[in-house]
Amino acid sequence: MDGEGALMSGSRLASGSRVAIIGGGIAGAGMAASLLFNGRARGSALDVRVYERGDEPDRIAPPAVLTAECRSRLAALGCRVPPEWRAHELRGVEILAGGNREVVPASPGGLWVVDGWPHGQGGMALVREVLVGAATAQGARFIPRRVERVENQPASPDAPAAVRKNGPLVVRAQGSGERFHAVALATGSSPSLGECFFEGFRPAPTVAAVQARLRHASPRLVMAPVARLWLAPLPTVDGLLLLPGTHSVYALAFGPAVTPADLCQSLMMAARDGLVEEGFELMGLETTRLPFGPGRTLVSPGQIAVGTAAFGHPLQLGLSETLASSSRAAVSLLDAGLEASALERRYVREGIAELLEDSAAGARSLAWLRRAGARAPRAFVTARGRGTTTGQGSNGVLGLATPTPMALLGSARWAGLRELLSSWMRTTMEPMPATIPSLEPDLYYIVDDDPDAREAMTQLLESTGARVVAFADELALFCAVARRPPTAILLDVVLHWVDGLRLCEGLKQHPLTRDTRVVVMSGLNRPHVRQRALDAGAEAFLPKPVDAEKLLRLLMGTGNDTYEKPRTHREPTVYAPSPSGRGLG
Ligand SMILES: Cc1cc2nc3c(=O)[nH]c(=O)nc-3n(C[C@H](O)[C@H](O)[C@H](O)COP(=O)(O)OP(=O)(O)OC[C@H]3O[C@@H](n4cnc5c(N)ncnc54)[C@H](O)[C@@H]3O)c2cc1C
Repeated sequence: MDGEGALMSGSRLASGSRVAIIGGGIAGAGMAASLLFNGRARGSALDVRVYERGDEPDRIAPPAVLTAECRSRLAALGCRVPPEWRAHELRGVEILAGGNREVVPASPGGLWVVDGWPHGQGGMALVREVLVGAATAQGARFIPRRVERVENQPASPDAPAAVRKNGPLVVRAQGSGERFHAVALATGSSPSLGECFFEGFRPAPTVAAVQARLRHASPRLVMAPVARLWLAPLPTVDGLLLLPGTHSVYALAFGPAVTPADLCQSLMMAARDGLVEEGFELMGLETTRLPFGPGRTLVSPGQIAVGTAAFGHPLQLGLSETLASSSRAAVSLLDAGLEASALERRYVREGIAELLEDSAAGARSLAWLRRAGARAPRAFVTARGRGTTTGQGSNGVLGLATPTPMALLGSARWAGLRELLSSWMRTTMEPMPATIPSLEPDLYYIVDDDPDAREAMTQLLESTGARVVAFADELALFCAVARRPPTAILLDVVLHWVDGLRLCEGLKQHPLTRDTRVVVMSGLNRPHVRQRALDAGAEAFLPKPVDAEKLLRLLMGTGNDTYEKPRTHREPTVYAPSPSGRGLG
């Protein structure tokens, strides 16, 4: 570093050098602690400042999954891991796909699920707090500001010495601008600064995800719980992760085009299949992004990207990869100097090369796991026997010791090819549930988020002596139909979490629920809505306000309506709205 603060060849961080870290999450706080600790070990007292934008107030942080390696890395960074974090240990991870399931056991002392929600913070916030505590104890300063960009602006020769000595990199954050010798980006997989970090910066690609919490009415202590990964429950969902906490289950659905409705529908299916408790309450539903492979350009003079801003994949649940990248980045900045080529060699090629490879393999394995269909769970078990972790920070997927992402990719690819070949030779036999409960006569389900409509239709049907169960919230529907199939379901289209047309399709696609009659009703009396309802398998479409007489005739098969009865293949019937305008709902 010349007296002018500009980055000269062989530039190194020295005592008094200023380092900024953008993002005070797991990677950022971890890097701050490592920089100060390792700097001090090299006789350099650094000035480390961490910019953290702060989370949206009502955001619920996910639980944290701590492997033995995560815990030792946290301890190495000066964190005290509270013993009570051990309270919730996972027995393993159950992998489900195409009706098959396999449990991949965790190694002893393996997987701790840390979580304080709903009484306290989500586990990730608790771990972050411990890391921030350790970094602050080492001398890091946390600045509650959102960073907009970083500019490489060496001070002009005639600039005051105080300016010239503070380094060429200017961090712009909410109206402030401060100079630093080095800047690290640790903003996670949320939308990144992109080229505002440095020109040509290529962060980790990301994939869409939706997360939420399932709250149980009363806490459940499940002996030796397992996490669950349901692969390809829906065409739009590559994976649904279910992570049991003491007072809730954390749910995460990911896929290129995943939506909140996709997560809700997958959870309804999970409840139907006994993977989550029925009657759960959905909280904290929000969209997010997950890293999906390695970033391509992660360093520039004096600048470096760490954590999930640099790499990751949706099956990487543990924190050790992220913490490993933070420590390697800190040591690279201290030892390799600030030149891009030196950082590229020391950090990217020597420090995190394997983590980058693993994240690529982890991301690619998802497509092959989808192709493998019902063979996918077995592919995880087979992969366990192949390739072991090298201990260089590369870990198994899902926080497990094995399989490693590379081994999983190999095994998933093979399973995918075999599935492809055998699918040419066979007709798809759908797994039939052992028993299909018989349909309950005179039992009707009404699914409508409008209390008046629900009330009116309930009264009408009960006046005929029928039994009615009304659902204000559709989340329990699949479960209820699978357990007690009613004579028919009256299904509104516009609902709280998932639209009624998708639910109708979902009901008609599963052997446990497909034979239940579904009548769709809606104020959206448009040809395309009517057609979609019939294509989804509805027996009839009733425009709102519903004509009570016609509804009874349809359900009870009484009266001599002018329109013809549905033909054998139950040609669906489209009814005109009740002429009197008076009707139900
Ligand atoms: C359920 C679950 C799923 C997981 N999925 C994955 C996964 O798919 N892949 C993976 O690698 N790891 C995953 N993990 C592991 C773990 O979550 C991550 O490794 C870890 O959170 C990444 O830490 P980070 O610091 O990179 O990002 P984060 O912990 O997200 O921290 C980023 C921080 O930067 C801040 N920030 C963002 N932009 C700015 C800005 N402009 N200015 C200032 N601050 C900013 C944010 O507020 C945030 O605090 C998962 C863990 C769990 C429990």
